[in-house]
Amino acid sequence: MRIKTFQNEPLLDFTNSKNLSKQKEALKAVRQKLGKTYQIIINGKQIKTNQTFNSYNPSNKDEIIATFYKGTKELADFAIESANKTFQTWKYTSPSERANYLFKAAAIARKRRFEINAYLVLEIGKNFAEADADTAEAIDFLDFYGYEMLRYAEKQPITPVFGEKNELVYIPLGVGVVVPPWNFPFAILAGMSSAAIVAGNTVVLKPSSDTPMMGKVFCDIMEEAGLPKGVLNFLPGSGGEVGDTLVSHPKTRFVSFTGSMEVGIHINELAAKVQPGQIWLKRVIAEMGGKDTIIVDSETNIDSAVQGVVAAAFGFQGQKCSACSRAIVDQSVYKVFVEKLKTEVEKIEVGVAEENYRMGPVANASAEKSILSYIEIGKKEGKLICGGGKAEGNGYYIKPTVFSDIKPLARISQEEIFGPVLAVIKSKNYDEALKIANNTKFGLTGAVYSNNRQKIEKAKKELLIGNLYFNRKCTGALVGVHPFGGFNMSGTDSKAGGRDYLLLFMQAKLMSEKV
Ligand code: NAP
Ligand code: MG
Repeated sequence: MRIKTFQNEPLLDFTNSKNLSKQKEALKAVRQKLGKTYQIIINGKQIKTNQTFNSYNPSNKDEIIATFYKGTKELADFAIESANKTFQTWKYTSPSERANYLFKAAAIARKRRFEINAYLVLEIGKNFAEADADTAEAIDFLDFYGYEMLRYAEKQPITPVFGEKNELVYIPLGVGVVVPPWNFPFAILAGMSSAAIVAGNTVVLKPSSDTPMMGKVFCDIMEEAGLPKGVLNFLPGSGGEVGDTLVSHPKTRFVSFTGSMEVGIHINELAAKVQPGQIWLKRVIAEMGGKDTIIVDSETNIDSAVQGVVAAAFGFQGQKCSACSRAIVDQSVYKVFVEKLKTEVEKIEVGVAEENYRMGPVANASAEKSILSYIEIGKKEGKLICGGGKAEGNGYYIKPTVFSDIKPLARISQEEIFGPVLAVIKSKNYDEALKIANNTKFGLTGAVYSNNRQKIEKAKKELLIGNLYFNRKCTGALVGVHPFGGFNMSGTDSKAGGRDYLLLFMQAKLMSEKV
């Protein structure tokens, strides 16, 4: 039965032995399905090419999760052309019909929850709770955007005028290219794709090459929900190879991207160039990196600040755009904070995601290499408190690492590392802490731990941060509750899971009739 208004999907509690054993059963069942080969899907047709690539388990790096046929430039062109044809009919489906596909897909994902979690554990190395939060967020996006579409389909408020009947409706844009990252490979992929679809657009989805399986799982769910063929097209392949073709195609109407700043900038530049035959300016929705800060004020409970920093810095190995990678700590509490932090971080055990270790592997070989090189930079820029290198195992394991005495303009204080590395910075006072917190090119998430109301109010005014939290961690945004997205180089200022989001996938049409 459908809920009447949006509610967040509750998270599963894995200290409950029933949930734990169900998750283990699902992992066993999914293991039986590993190693299959999957095809490209354009207009409902399965397509092979003469090249394939593998998705691997980062916890056990030689283990193949699945093999995928690799998209080519020709197929990228074909996918856009085909999605453009489907758009000519799909655009006339009613908003309620479109919303119903999302509600059905949410219900299917709810039923397949443990199975989806298992794929997340195996394909990208999330522990059970992190995997479950990813799946729950996907369910939330599907429901939330479904309800949002129904809201946008209602009569829109405009000023009445005598002698005219006026009406404003939201219509779709056209073909969208959807390019998600690997770090929330189900939630973000499902959120970006379903927002585009429910708004009446057709989609060419290019999943991250590290997590194509999660894209396949999503496409299967949408098919099971009855989404007409051709609305969602699945084109795995290298971003560098097919990405440019998809983005620059004259029939591409918009690009919805989540990933690194570098790729976001590249897509934005490429999409800005008007191609021969193109009759619009493309819209780019880019959600990019972060360098997120938690300020620890002198007037706060240090234990809860330590808890918040540790959870935000090391949850999913620090591979969240919202992860805390800098703690700015007032000099009067600095020493005790660093001591307590060290004790807590040293408790974190690193190991195979399938065994539900608190911390698992990082995503892939290049992430490992890049994080380890930042750790070497950190050793020159500050004092190593704990961690500082690889951890044991046949995967991309890195010890949770903390550096103290980092200068505000040091590289590990400025550049996104996207791994389990935390820089601790000493501030002279609260005003200096605010200044340091604003000193990067990003502006995604952040938090302040303080009991002082005036200081909290000052942070609300001063900090240029899209998702700003007080006396809690800076990760774990909930759909609808904490619309998500940052400022400056963190993206195009969009808010996923918020009331403005669907507008990015639509345009308003005004009709005025003399009466
Ligand atoms: P990434 O390397 O930028 O890749 C993201 C996606 O872009 C992948 O699907 C990738 O495909 C594709 N891509 C690469 N080159 C392309 C090109 N020339 N044209 C079109 N697409 C291209 O990012 P990631 O490593 O997957 O994800 C981590 C980053 O995402 C971090 O910076 C993180 O902060 C950011 N992020 C931001 C948010 C947010 O809401 N602001 C949320 C989550 C993550 P391939 O895999 O084939 O290379
Ligand atoms: Mg993988």
